[in-house]
Amino acid sequence: MGFQLSSKDYVEYIKLAAAKIHENGDYVTALDAATGDGDHWSNINIGFEKLIEAIPVMETMSLFDEFKKIGMIMMSVIGGSSGVLYGSAYMGAAKVLKDKDVIENQDMCNIMEAMLNAIMQRGNAKPGFKTMIDCLYPAVECYKDCITKALSENETVVLVKKAAVEGAQSTAAMEAIRGRACYQANKGVGHLDPGAITMAYQIETLMDYIATRL
Ligand code: ADP
Ligand code: MG
Repeated sequence: MGFQLSSKDYVEYIKLAAAKIHENGDYVTALDAATGDGDHWSNINIGFEKLIEAIPVMETMSLFDEFKKIGMIMMSVIGGSSGVLYGSAYMGAAKVLKDKDVIENQDMCNIMEAMLNAIMQRGNAKPGFKTMIDCLYPAVECYKDCITKALSENETVVLVKKAAVEGAQSTAAMEAIRGRACYQANKGVGHLDPGAITMAYQIETLMDYIATRL
């Protein structure tokens, strides 16, 4: 049998993601200082700190309520574009989880796809615009492909993680069409997009956590 994550398990992932983001503060701040206003790490880090405070409540909730709660916290405490975008992502993903007690492989793919669609819609952006989408989109495409090919969950998590990391790295060569980097003379070419990097941290951490549950 494959992995099954409860709302309590998802909280375990949140703790690991919070730690990963916390420890990369200087690096992410430098990235956003180069092409944006330098606040991306502090925005997202405060969001995860607030999620950690809400764990006692979240772990007793259904997955549907837990994801809505995460979305509301992110929307209200993360400043900048990423707060609205992550808020919308979690609200969108909650809908996939209605009446579900656990997240299984196909559900996880559906969650990530719902997040992608919500972010693209809310931010009016597409792949190739040098944003967090350039990490999430290839990860979702890869996940769907793994399911179509009926790959094992062990293989899937490795490939999805790789797609996310490579997607984030690919933003260095892109000209920004959304986000503050588009106001730069050279559209941020040569610089990684900070939002794509923090998205990759989250997907990497999620795939590594799933691997421990297989
Ligand atoms: P702000 O740009 O308002 O200061 P943050 O610094 O918190 O917000 O987040 C910046 C990140 O948000 C960017 O690196 C990019 O990945 C992402 N982003 C910005 N605008 C959009 C958009 N319209 N669609 C998707 N992602 C976006
Ligand atoms: Mg910023």
